[in-house]
Amino acid sequence: MATQAAKKPARKTRGFIKIREEECKGCGCCIEDCPQKVLEFSPNLNRMGYHPCVYKGDGCIACGICFYACPEPGAITVYQLEEGD
Ligand code: SF4
Ligand code: SF4
Repeated sequence: MATQAAKKPARKTRGFIKIREEECKGCGCCIEDCPQKVLEFSPNLNRMGYHPCVYKGDGCIACGICFYACPEPGAITVYQLEEGD
């Protein structure tokens, strides 16, 4: 019997985030909690010797979960895209 692969819903980008890499302690909480899995560790080290988190550049839905997961105040800022952006 032939089976069909379920079609994945299109991933709509509704926002983006900015990470102040020098504030990041590389704990990975935001990476773990992001429902879209659009965050990852940078291969580079910051001034404190941590691999900071970086946005992959696509797929953020501006849910804010990474902001609340981050223990470092000011490390993450979440932006919501306007309709038509
Ligand atoms: S706002 Fe939500 S979707 Fe965007 S990077 Fe943060 S946790 Fe992921
Ligand atoms: S939760 Fe904050 S400190 Fe931890 S990796 Fe993400 S940005 Fe860095």
